[in-house]
Amino acid sequence: MQWPGIIGQYAVQEILQRCIAQNRIPQAMLLVGQDGFGTMALAIEFARVVNCYRPVIDGHSVTACGECQSCNQARSLQHPNISIISAIPTGKLDGADELRKEWIDGLYQLARQLAHDGYSPTRMEGANEIRTVQIRELTRQLSLSMTQRGRRVAIIANAEDMNVSTANAFLKTLEEPHADTTIILTCARPDRLLATIISRCQVITVPALDETTLSRALTERGNHQPEEALISASLAQGDYIAAEAFLADDVRQIRDAAVDLLRTALRGKDFRPSLTAAVHDLIGQRDRQRSTAVASALLLWLRDAYSIIQAGSAVQLLNADQREPLERFASTFARADFDAAYRVIERAVADVERFMPTQLVMLTSMMELRTIFLQARRS
Ligand SMILES: [Zn+2]
Repeated sequence: MQWPGIIGQYAVQEILQRCIAQNRIPQAMLLVGQDGFGTMALAIEFARVVNCYRPVIDGHSVTACGECQSCNQARSLQHPNISIISAIPTGKLDGADELRKEWIDGLYQLARQLAHDGYSPTRMEGANEIRTVQIRELTRQLSLSMTQRGRRVAIIANAEDMNVSTANAFLKTLEEPHADTTIILTCARPDRLLATIISRCQVITVPALDETTLSRALTERGNHQPEEALISASLAQGDYIAAEAFLADDVRQIRDAAVDLLRTALRGKDFRPSLTAAVHDLIGQRDRQRSTAVASALLLWLRDAYSIIQAGSAVQLLNADQREPLERFASTFARADFDAAYRVIERAVADVERFMPTQLVMLTSMMELRTIFLQARRS
């Protein structure tokens, strides 16, 4: 049975439900994947289910009843057995031994939001580090006896936010077994975790959402128009939070900017200064998400142009509002090597993912696209 509030991820849910149903709940779990894939939403729902007083069990499937006292407490994350630890801002008071009240309040707000929607932000504003003092507080709490029956679940959001001394303190916590306790780590970058931490956890990979599931969630949960949801889902690479961000940022605006960039690259001899300026205006030096969105939007637009070339103007387009400019582009560049153009854009996305300077990557790719398309027009 599907857990409420979770988008897709049937296989992961099955693994989690099965270990609850068979009472083989691990002491520590690492959910690897981005927040927008559902790592945090899954961790919170897991905590609810293992604490529910009247879980609904059907074979290997377990869901929370949603009505008992524990479920009611868990709904707003005001549950003595459930806690979320997430990064706090580090600043002048670096090394401070106490948690400031504003941080505690911030973390409390964050937890409440996450209880309401597991796809909310998992870091408070300006937060960059999980501090040792937070892990010490966790260890202290775990050493106390439980005040309510159920299972203690401590969720460490974005475990890669632990610095070296925090990670070492945490390793000690992991090494001491605590009765009826599960520690869940969520992490998008396991390469930044200590190998000794990973080896003590049951590792569960939470994969990117497929485009259909993602666009359906955008229309059903987010009330977005199906057409925009579809474009945004293709841009977001399986990440629900990123997809929502694109929609807030207006996907059409990103797409239009991407197409303008290509047009600038295809101008006459003096295209260079305006192309450099356009790239600079559109994306920051390290703006990976935006660069990927621009590149992906351009890819989808070119795919539409190519399907017009292949199938004629009656073909169904993803960028349906762009039919006219797409037809013009298709007739001008009908003989261009679109496959080569796709490869250029796909490589740009990969380079950006590998932390290469975004503006340089975009500029180089646009020059290559210029060569590909202008060649076709000349011949
Ligand atoms: Zn319940």
